[in-house]
Amino acid sequence: SPASLAGKVVWITGASSGIGEFTAYELAKAGCRLVLSARRKEELERVKSQCLVSGKVKDDDVLVLPLDMLKTDTHAAAVETVLQHFSKIDILFSNAGRSHRGMFESTSLDVDREMFELTVFGNMSLIKATLPSMKERKEGHIFVMSSAAGKLGAPASSPYTGAKHALQGYCDCLRMELIQYNIDVSVVCPGPVHSNLLQYSFTEKSGEFYGKAWSKDENRMTTSRCAELIGIMMANKLGEGWISPQPILALM
Ligand code: NDP
Repeated sequence: SPASLAGKVVWITGASSGIGEFTAYELAKAGCRLVLSARRKEELERVKSQCLVSGKVKDDDVLVLPLDMLKTDTHAAAVETVLQHFSKIDILFSNAGRSHRGMFESTSLDVDREMFELTVFGNMSLIKATLPSMKERKEGHIFVMSSAAGKLGAPASSPYTGAKHALQGYCDCLRMELIQYNIDVSVVCPGPVHSNLLQYSFTEKSGEFYGKAWSKDENRMTTSRCAELIGIMMANKLGEGWISPQPILALM
């Protein structure tokens, strides 16, 4: 259970809202030490306060570390800050992301690029910066947020789906490369979750199309349920898991 993660240092990106925020609460309850990253510092402070109220953590156990995943030249310094504070990183939960809804032809190449910059290169940059300390300790866990869209295509989501597929491909290679260093790589693929992501991702044109589809969807998970399942996956070091309102289906 996630309780077995007590004392672990877990760095969560995208911790200022949604799934990342609720995973912080779940892991704080389990007694993990946390690094909370995203761009909005005040939201990270809010999440930290809540962790202190509801979790088994003290002030020093939760480090707020603002970070822009797109500013890859700041990632090495961010890793240094974490190592200075906690001296190790047990788990990197690379979760930050955003969505875009729009038909392929009406989506500009700039939007396609931006999605890849964040989802693929942002994540790869932070993982590359984090790995040396894990390799040195011969211990670590890279836990990456993909999506059901990392496995399946759907209309009006080509940049998001394409970028998540690419992310999965990188992780599948990385997992094999890192076995020799005792570093695990997990990829989590949730179905739709109630968070800001879908709400703010609609373009004017496709919003109507998706708005109707989503509003009928009774199968969306709450962010807290999703976070609970992520905690179970982390504790059990599952290589890959689809998570949905039904229990985890572990593929590996
Ligand atoms: P939210 O919009 O609530 O959370 C997104 C998080 O990412 C925020 O904390 C945001 O913080 C952060 N973020 C966005 N851009 C950047 C950036 N450039 N640098 C640093 N942080 C950034 O959505 P979710 O919780 O739903 O999304 C979290 C992850 O879950 C995403 O990777 C998403 O693809 C994935 N996912 C979501 C599903 C869903 O249905 N909601 C389903 C499957 C996967 P800030 O703005 O403060 O920087």
